[in-house]
Amino acid sequence: MRLVCSLTSDYDVIVAGAGVAGCMAAIEASKQGVRIGLFEEHPQVGVPSHCSGVVSLSGLKLLGMTSNQAFDQRLIRGARFFPPTGSPIEITRPEPVALIINRMKFDQYLAKNAINNGVELHTKSRITKFEKTSDQEIQVTIQNQGVVGAKVLIDASGAGSRLPTQAGLKPPDWSQILPGLQYELIGTDRQDDLVNLYFGSKRAPGFFAWSIPTGDHSVRAGLATSKGNVRTLLDQLVKERWPKSKIDATKSGSVLVSGPVDRCWSPGFIFAGDAAGQVKQTTGGGIVIGGYCGMLAGKAAASAVKNPRRADQFLETYDHEWREKFSSDLKKMGIGRRLFFGLSDATLDKLFPALEPLLGEITDVADMDFQGTVITKLLANRKLASLIPRIAADNIRSLFS
Ligand SMILES: Cc1cc2nc3c(=O)[nH]c(=O)nc-3n(C[C@H](O)[C@H](O)[C@H](O)COP(=O)(O)OP(=O)(O)OC[C@H]3O[C@@H](n4cnc5c(N)ncnc54)[C@H](O)[C@@H]3O)c2cc1C
Repeated sequence: MRLVCSLTSDYDVIVAGAGVAGCMAAIEASKQGVRIGLFEEHPQVGVPSHCSGVVSLSGLKLLGMTSNQAFDQRLIRGARFFPPTGSPIEITRPEPVALIINRMKFDQYLAKNAINNGVELHTKSRITKFEKTSDQEIQVTIQNQGVVGAKVLIDASGAGSRLPTQAGLKPPDWSQILPGLQYELIGTDRQDDLVNLYFGSKRAPGFFAWSIPTGDHSVRAGLATSKGNVRTLLDQLVKERWPKSKIDATKSGSVLVSGPVDRCWSPGFIFAGDAAGQVKQTTGGGIVIGGYCGMLAGKAAASAVKNPRRADQFLETYDHEWREKFSSDLKKMGIGRRLFFGLSDATLDKLFPALEPLLGEITDVADMDFQGTVITKLLANRKLASLIPRIAADNIRSLFS
């Protein structure tokens, strides 16, 4: 599918990037009847796709969506966590908790919805510059095409965006991006309905590797790492676990683990999704958080357009609203990431068996998107307290390695 419209006139709201955050922003803003231009740098929405496509069913509901034939791949009941050596532990539920989606089709589904709501989509249109031209006007430059005016720009152009700096805002710490690589494997052994996560220095130093069943005999296997060569590490995992499989497709991408920015708005400008660091630092997952923040951003931008005298107030409210929803959990995930991903293999091998007796409690409070409660519970657990000296020593060591 190729979605193309021709560049016409100025808009009320311009959205940079037709990913999940940008499409959700455009859809939400369109509900208030304002003119929206959605600009995507690539010729096709959703291509190239970098994402593994794991999304919780509760998160999907938060986005006002349910599973849908247009993008569904497989339902998932939980996850299996592999320590560097020894047996894995499982966190599972009797019923499905997550959905594996085809991310390209998901983004295209959202873009179609946006178009059906009156949004004008421009592909092959990279926004390179943001300027505030007057009290209530902004202007963006589209590479090789010219300038377009509007009242508000929503930057949803993903990790590495330079637009916030042009609006006088501090972007996320882009040095906190881990290189990631994924293979679509076919001809694997039979797959169940659990996601597998692999930890340790031999698998993915500083992060983790994953395998996600996409069919009965197919897997999306990938990893991100803070050290080492992603391809060498992934090839090794594939050789060991699915020696007879074939690589059907390869995707690379940047996993963002920086945490969110301090401020998400300036007059005529707001940003959402990866562009604003709205991702879970424990996993790099941002479909639900980015999508939801995109919705809030779209609503705020449209309200600002309709109430020009109070425009700044609406944009500032967006910044409060999304933090109210996610900030506490994101902070705890940041702490969890700093503590967990600095651990040595020896400590991980002690930690996993120590978690085994707590799995019932963990399952009760585990939430893929709001991980704050489970992290707090683990940090307060007395049985895990005996590992604190090791964890502290590992983290100090990792700072200098
Ligand atoms: C390997 C990997 C696996 C992942 N797996 C998961 C997962 O399983 N679950 C999960 O929740 N999250 C996952 N994520 C994270 C998830 O993909 C992102 O958090 C999510 O895509 C963020 O959405 P977004 O709309 O903010 O940005 P993006 O999806 O990156 O969309 C940004 C869009 O903007 C376009 N663009 C960029 N610059 C410009 C410009 N200047 N002008 C116009 N258009 C522009 C891009 O082409 C793109 O279409 C994964 C990430 C990686 C790298």
